[in-house]
Amino acid sequence: MAEPARQIDVIDARPAFIQADADALNARFEGIDTLTMLKTVFAEGLAGHVAVVSSFGTESAVLLDLVAKADPTVPVIFVDTLKMFAETLHYRDTLIQRFGFTDSRTVTPVAEVIAKKDATGLRWSYDPDGCCDIRKVEPMKRAKDGLDAWISGRKAFQSVTRQNLPRFEVEDGRLKINPLGDWNKADLEAYFAEHDLPRHPLEAQGYLSIGCEPCTSKVMPGEDPRAGRWRGWDKVECGIHSPVSPIPVADPDDPANQPVF
Ligand code: SF4
Repeated sequence: MAEPARQIDVIDARPAFIQADADALNARFEGIDTLTMLKTVFAEGLAGHVAVVSSFGTESAVLLDLVAKADPTVPVIFVDTLKMFAETLHYRDTLIQRFGFTDSRTVTPVAEVIAKKDATGLRWSYDPDGCCDIRKVEPMKRAKDGLDAWISGRKAFQSVTRQNLPRFEVEDGRLKINPLGDWNKADLEAYFAEHDLPRHPLEAQGYLSIGCEPCTSKVMPGEDPRAGRWRGWDKVECGIHSPVSPIPVADPDDPANQPVF
């Protein structure tokens, strides 16, 4: 008697999301206010396993308040590079408690890696990209294991490198949600005032974009809000985010773009 065909186990390695999903979500939520969008995304499970990632910087309270209002059980991930301002750690605790989040996660670099690659703790001073890799990018990658989607606090107005920021993007097969992508500074200020949100304690001292202590400086009037990050270095992002590509413009002289009659 012929043996029954052996069942073949297949590992589903398909990405959780593809660009068409992001395009559909951008179209569906166009013109919908941010809180309604978040509530719908969570209630309908549109993002699968999702978490919000926060740096607990000067504007973080707005996104966290919105996410908590939509669903306070959404996990909050914070990457502690072990180079943070003490004020940021305190602010994190304040906001988590204030908004009632029930799943706060802090990820740190691997101790063995730090001992091997940054024993002096000064790698930031001669190789900031390498420092960000071991202190931010790798822990962040670990934190995102098992997630289908993550929520970022990026806004288009923050920097010229963040122009054209869509609400939904796909990155490495995951959905990346930028609920505040189209908010401007005035919108954020109005939200802070309306909801009486606590400010990061360093903001009043002129720190407009706050990351690690060694790589953050005050911003002078008229400067890009992120000018205080990695001042003096040709570096604009830590590696967790990529600069957003400009929307491609079709070249009318390219034969591929000529009308076909
Ligand atoms: S921001 Fe500076 S201190 Fe923090 S991980 Fe990057 S290089 Fe290191």
